[in-house]
This record gives sequence, C-alpha cells and structure tokens, in this order.
Amino acid sequence: MTSNYLVIGNWKMYKDIEEAVSFVRALTPMIQDVQVDVGLAVPFTAIASCALEASDSLMIGAQNMHDATTGAFTGEIAASMLVDAGASFVILGHSERRHIFGETSDFVNRKVHRALEEGLIPIVCVGETLEEREEDKTWDVLQEQIDQSLANISNEKIKNLLIAYEPVWAIGTGKTASPEQAQEVHEQIRAYLEEKWGEKGKAVRLLYGGSVKPDNTESILKKGDIEGVLVGGASLLPETFNAIVQNAKI
Ligand code: PEP
Repeated sequence: MTSNYLVIGNWKMYKDIEEAVSFVRALTPMIQDVQVDVGLAVPFTAIASCALEASDSLMIGAQNMHDATTGAFTGEIAASMLVDAGASFVILGHSERRHIFGETSDFVNRKVHRALEEGLIPIVCVGETLEEREEDKTWDVLQEQIDQSLANISNEKIKNLLIAYEPVWAIGTGKTASPEQAQEVHEQIRAYLEEKWGEKGKAVRLLYGGSVKPDNTESILKKGDIEGVLVGGASLLPETFNAIVQNAKI
C-alpha cells in the first residue's frame, strides 16, 4: 500500500459469488489509475473468485478469522486459509463481532498476532457505544481496546497494521461522527500510538468508519489524522462505492 488515501468496503454478509464477481468487474475500470488505495472485505465464499478477478488496483480481504493455525474449530477459518484464497488484509474486532458475537479484545489480540505472522494486514476496529460517549467514557473505552487488542505487538510489527475508529453509534445508522468529532479521536489515537510505539506507532494508518457516503468522504478525509475510510452500506453498489473512491482523490 502507498501513502494515498485508503477506501475499504466491508460487505458484511451480503453478495453471493456471482454478485461479488460482477461488482469487481464493474468497479475495475472505474478505479483504474485512481490515486487512491482500494480494498473490499468480501464474504469468505467470494474471496477466491474476487481475488482472481481483481486487478492490481484492488485488494481483496476478509472480515474475520480465527487465531489458531489449524484444529478442531468447527465453522472457523485460519489466516493461512485466507491468504491461500487470495486475501491480503483482514478486518478484526469489528463492533458487530464484539457486540453480537461477544468477541473480546483479548481474542482480537491473538488474531492480530496470527494475521501478522501469516502476512495478512490487520485492520483493527475500535469504537465506543452511544451510552459510553454520553457518559464521557469514549477515550477510556478506546484506550482499553487499543491496549488489549494490540498487546505485545512490537515496534517493528505495529507499522504493518491499521486501526479503524468506528463509533458504534455511527455504524449503519446514518449518523456520521462530524469530521471534527472524528478528527479529535483520531488525533488522540495517534498521540497514544506514538506514546506507546514511538515514530512507528505515529505512522500507523488510521481509518474512520461509520455511515461514510460519497457526500461526506471529502470533509472527513480533509482532517489531518484520518487517512482513509471503512465503508459498510455504501460499499454495496459499485457506483456509490466508486463515488467514495473518487472523492478520496484529494
Ligand atoms: C462498517 O460496517 O464498518 C460500517 C462502517 O458500516 P456503515 O458504513 O454502513 O455505517
């Protein structure tokens, strides 16, 4: 990845293989030569076909994985299997994993270590709920999630992961954090990463996620510490997703 802005789509549990491949075919000419890094986190079943179809201008990734290398873990998938299928990155600790499936930061931490060992780029999600924000606990929650999810990650390895700040109250709700709210948190995250991991921590790429749409992309990305966006709902149509990519060309 370069130092362009980064736009990652998270398809969640949408699209069969045929729909996924058609999307990639439609998107490819739209984003050719664009000065933006683009990735799609697709369902497990579509990783291999999308990776075969994708050109160099599109990274294909996964939305989750297990931390073990192999074993009796019915229904789970290993990092090496994702790499084998053609994934280059993986979203870890998404709030839907944390809140619906009860994933702890400790589990996320084991996954982060494994993903890095297998050469996958982890996109580690952190974010507070509305209740936590209203109780003024935003930073406490984020600090704890960062401390635990990134425990024992070395200075050498920290630069190989990304962090996505996704306020839970802004995901799929149409309520975006204002660019100022997002920037305030990103600035805090960057300062904290620098405090813990020095220059290497300061250089970690930070993304914002939560109801990103074509018309709010530019104002979010214009804020100094936000280097990309993680997009859920608006990544499901090639035209809308491409409009976000084009608006990230700043
Ligand atoms: C997400 O699922 O990571 C996300 C940000 O969703 P949405 O864009 O739909 O809020």
